[in-house]
Amino acid sequence: MRRSLTTPKIRLRRSRVHRDSQSPAQRLWLFDLDNTLHDTSYQIFPHISQGMTRAVMQCLGVDEDQAQKIRTEYWKRYGATMIGLVKHHGVDADEFLRISHDFDVAPLMRAESGLNAKLARLPGRKVLVTNAPLHYARAVLKHLGILRHFDSLWAIEHLKLHGQYKPKPSSSMLRHIVACEGFTPNRAVLIEDTLANLRGARQAGLRTVHVFHEATPFAHQRRARPAYVDLRINRVSCLLLQKRVLRTN
Ligand SMILES: [Mg+2]
Repeated sequence: MRRSLTTPKIRLRRSRVHRDSQSPAQRLWLFDLDNTLHDTSYQIFPHISQGMTRAVMQCLGVDEDQAQKIRTEYWKRYGATMIGLVKHHGVDADEFLRISHDFDVAPLMRAESGLNAKLARLPGRKVLVTNAPLHYARAVLKHLGILRHFDSLWAIEHLKLHGQYKPKPSSSMLRHIVACEGFTPNRAVLIEDTLANLRGARQAGLRTVHVFHEATPFAHQRRARPAYVDLRINRVSCLLLQKRVLRTN
């Protein structure tokens, strides 16, 4: 099963899988990207939003109002606009993802300082799991100087099971990723800002860490820690102080 999805472009350090996963104490850290490793609400989100609308207009030949309605409908229904466009309109997924995230991230980034050194101090295998496209994810990680820490990158292009896109919060997809990385769910931790994705992770048997920022979208809905969240943090570096809370069996 592992061979089918581990294409060279997402598996960055294939040789480490078996060695790491054989230690019972070893953990698998699944990191979300936007509003987890960097602050998308600072400047990037408007660029993504405009890019998505522009890409829908271009791919379907509709006006801006129609494009926004279609975007919202498919995002709510499928968890990613691109999935609805592929399913109902035969849009080329790669082309859509390229147009929708066609901007330079460098001047728009804001993130926790010293992330590179902090991730280096966090033992275990680290992989990225994002509903965003691969080229954008790579650009963000490179700009943050933390690409080297990630053994695999699972972007929207790779979140497929049996030919169907299964973005987060799909429990079956998360279980599949954990298995492909050579771990069992009880030794895996998802670090995320989106509660629905953490709920999906818990259903898959993973530990969960909610990255909470007051300024991020829907923060007002997140005042209390839900039962499916093991830990709430406001900086990734807090993981270094919480090893006991996140101890895996
Ligand atoms: Mg996020």
